[in-house]
Amino acid sequence: MERTFAIIKPDAVERNLIGKIIERIESKGFKIAALKKAALSKTQAESFYHVHKERPFFNDLTAYMVSGPVVLMVLEKENAIADWRELMGATNPADADKGTIRKDFAINLEKNSAHGSDSPETAAFEVSFFFSGTEILP
Ligand code: ATP
Ligand code: MG
Repeated sequence: MERTFAIIKPDAVERNLIGKIIERIESKGFKIAALKKAALSKTQAESFYHVHKERPFFNDLTAYMVSGPVVLMVLEKENAIADWRELMGATNPADADKGTIRKDFAINLEKNSAHGSDSPETAAFEVSFFFSGTEILP
Protein backbone atom coordinates (compact mmCIF):
# COMPACT_ATOMS: atom_id res chain seq x y z
CA MET A 1 0.00 0.00 0.00
CA GLU A 2 1.18 3.51 -0.84
CA ARG A 3 -0.10 6.85 0.42
CA THR A 4 -0.44 10.09 -1.49
CA PHE A 5 -1.79 13.52 -0.73
CA ALA A 6 -4.53 15.16 -2.81
CA ILE A 7 -6.23 18.55 -2.92
CA ILE A 8 -9.47 19.47 -4.66
CA LYS A 9 -8.48 23.05 -5.50
CA PRO A 10 -10.65 26.18 -5.06
CA ASP A 11 -11.86 26.32 -8.67
CA ALA A 12 -13.37 22.83 -8.40
CA VAL A 13 -14.87 23.29 -4.92
CA GLU A 14 -16.43 26.56 -6.09
CA ARG A 15 -18.10 24.82 -9.06
CA ASN A 16 -19.58 21.99 -6.91
CA LEU A 17 -17.25 19.33 -8.35
CA ILE A 18 -16.24 17.69 -5.04
CA GLY A 19 -18.61 14.75 -5.54
CA LYS A 20 -17.69 14.15 -9.18
CA ILE A 21 -13.96 14.12 -8.36
CA ILE A 22 -14.35 11.84 -5.32
CA GLU A 23 -16.51 9.50 -7.42
CA ARG A 24 -13.59 9.07 -9.84
CA ILE A 25 -11.13 8.53 -6.97
CA GLU A 26 -13.22 5.78 -5.38
CA SER A 27 -14.02 4.16 -8.75
CA LYS A 28 -10.28 3.78 -9.41
CA GLY A 29 -9.86 1.80 -6.18
CA PHE A 30 -8.35 4.44 -3.89
CA LYS A 31 -9.30 4.35 -0.22
CA ILE A 32 -9.85 7.81 1.27
CA ALA A 33 -7.83 7.50 4.49
CA ALA A 34 -8.41 11.11 5.55
CA LEU A 35 -10.52 14.00 4.29
CA LYS A 36 -11.32 17.54 5.39
CA LYS A 37 -12.43 20.87 3.98
CA ALA A 38 -10.14 23.78 4.82
CA ALA A 39 -9.50 27.44 4.10
CA LEU A 40 -5.73 27.75 3.71
CA SER A 41 -3.90 30.79 5.01
CA LYS A 42 -1.43 32.55 2.71
CA THR A 43 1.40 31.34 4.97
CA GLN A 44 0.19 27.73 4.72
CA ALA A 45 -0.11 27.96 0.92
CA GLU A 46 3.40 29.44 0.68
CA SER A 47 4.90 26.72 2.91
CA PHE A 48 3.04 23.98 1.06
CA TYR A 49 4.30 25.18 -2.35
CA HIS A 50 7.74 26.25 -1.04
CA VAL A 51 9.52 24.36 -3.87
CA HIS A 52 8.04 26.89 -6.30
CA LYS A 53 8.95 30.04 -4.34
CA GLU A 54 11.41 31.29 -6.97
CA ARG A 55 8.95 30.76 -9.85
CA PRO A 56 7.29 33.77 -11.49
CA PHE A 57 3.83 32.27 -10.85
CA PHE A 58 4.38 31.72 -7.09
CA ASN A 59 2.43 34.73 -5.87
CA ASP A 60 -0.52 34.11 -8.22
CA LEU A 61 -0.54 30.41 -7.35
CA THR A 62 -0.60 30.96 -3.59
CA ALA A 63 -3.22 33.75 -3.92
CA TYR A 64 -5.40 31.38 -5.95
CA MET A 65 -4.99 28.59 -3.37
CA VAL A 66 -6.41 30.88 -0.65
CA SER A 67 -9.18 32.30 -2.87
CA GLY A 68 -11.71 29.78 -1.57
CA PRO A 69 -11.97 26.56 0.42
CA VAL A 70 -10.20 23.37 -0.64
CA VAL A 71 -10.67 19.68 0.14
CA LEU A 72 -7.61 17.89 1.54
CA MET A 73 -7.29 14.11 1.30
CA VAL A 74 -4.94 11.24 2.03
CA LEU A 75 -5.41 8.52 -0.61
CA GLU A 76 -4.25 4.92 -0.28
CA LYS A 77 -3.73 2.22 -2.87
CA GLU A 78 -0.91 0.28 -4.48
CA ASN A 79 1.03 2.76 -6.63
CA ALA A 80 -1.12 5.61 -5.26
CA ILE A 81 1.30 8.45 -6.14
CA ALA A 82 1.61 7.64 -9.86
CA ASP A 83 -1.98 6.47 -10.21
CA TRP A 84 -3.42 9.67 -8.69
CA ARG A 85 -1.24 11.80 -10.99
CA GLU A 86 -2.44 9.74 -13.95
CA LEU A 87 -6.08 10.21 -12.93
CA MET A 88 -5.51 14.00 -12.58
CA GLY A 89 -3.79 14.34 -15.96
CA ALA A 90 -1.11 16.81 -17.11
CA THR A 91 -0.60 20.07 -15.18
CA ASN A 92 -1.91 22.08 -18.14
CA PRO A 93 -5.44 20.87 -19.01
CA ALA A 94 -4.71 21.64 -22.67
CA ASP A 95 -2.11 18.83 -22.59
CA ALA A 96 -4.12 16.42 -20.40
CA ASP A 97 -5.40 13.09 -21.75
CA LYS A 98 -9.07 12.48 -22.42
CA GLY A 99 -10.95 11.24 -19.37
CA THR A 100 -8.62 12.85 -16.82
CA ILE A 101 -9.85 15.20 -14.11
CA ARG A 102 -7.88 18.16 -15.43
CA LYS A 103 -9.02 17.59 -19.05
CA ASP A 104 -12.66 17.34 -18.00
CA PHE A 105 -12.85 19.95 -15.21
CA ALA A 106 -9.83 22.31 -15.09
CA ILE A 107 -10.14 25.92 -16.22
CA ASN A 108 -6.49 26.62 -17.13
CA LEU A 109 -2.86 25.90 -16.18
CA GLU A 110 -3.24 27.62 -12.79
CA LYS A 111 -6.85 26.76 -11.95
CA ASN A 112 -6.33 23.08 -12.66
CA SER A 113 -8.77 21.61 -10.11
CA ALA A 114 -6.52 19.10 -8.33
CA HIS A 115 -3.15 18.57 -6.68
CA GLY A 116 -1.19 15.36 -6.21
CA SER A 117 2.15 14.56 -4.57
CA ASP A 118 4.96 13.87 -7.03
CA SER A 119 7.22 11.49 -5.00
CA PRO A 120 7.22 9.42 -1.80
CA GLU A 121 9.23 12.16 -0.03
CA THR A 122 6.78 14.87 -1.12
CA ALA A 123 3.81 12.70 -0.15
CA ALA A 124 5.19 12.16 3.36
CA PHE A 125 5.81 15.91 3.79
CA GLU A 126 2.41 16.92 2.42
CA VAL A 127 0.39 14.35 4.40
CA SER A 128 2.04 15.37 7.67
CA PHE A 129 1.72 19.08 6.77
CA PHE A 130 -2.10 18.83 6.96
CA PHE A 131 -2.98 15.69 8.96
CA SER A 132 -2.01 14.24 12.32
CA GLY A 133 -1.60 10.48 12.69
CA THR A 134 -4.92 10.03 14.46
CA GLU A 135 -6.81 11.68 11.57
CA ILE A 136 -5.60 9.04 9.08
CA LEU A 137 -7.75 5.91 9.12
CA PRO A 138 -6.49 3.41 6.57
P1 ATP B 1 0.41 20.19 -8.27
O1 ATP B 1 1.74 20.31 -7.56
O2 ATP B 1 -0.57 21.27 -7.90
O3 ATP B 1 -0.16 18.81 -8.17
P2 ATP B 1 1.79 19.73 -10.70
O4 ATP B 1 2.72 18.89 -9.88
O5 ATP B 1 1.13 19.08 -11.88
O6 ATP B 1 0.66 20.37 -9.84
P3 ATP B 1 3.68 21.90 -10.49
O7 ATP B 1 4.75 22.12 -11.50
O8 ATP B 1 4.03 21.30 -9.18
O9 ATP B 1 2.53 21.03 -11.22
O10 ATP B 1 2.94 23.29 -10.27
C1 ATP B 1 2.15 23.51 -9.13
C2 ATP B 1 0.92 24.29 -9.53
O11 ATP B 1 1.30 25.60 -9.91
C3 ATP B 1 0.18 23.75 -10.76
O12 ATP B 1 -0.72 22.72 -10.46
C4 ATP B 1 -0.55 24.98 -11.24
O13 ATP B 1 -1.72 25.22 -10.43
C5 ATP B 1 0.46 26.07 -10.96
N1 ATP B 1 1.35 26.34 -12.11
C6 ATP B 1 2.34 25.55 -12.58
N2 ATP B 1 2.98 26.11 -13.62
C7 ATP B 1 2.36 27.31 -13.81
C8 ATP B 1 2.54 28.40 -14.74
N3 ATP B 1 3.49 28.36 -15.67
N4 ATP B 1 1.70 29.44 -14.63
C9 ATP B 1 0.74 29.51 -13.67
N5 ATP B 1 0.53 28.53 -12.77
C10 ATP B 1 1.32 27.44 -12.84
MG1 MG C 1 3.61 19.61 -8.10
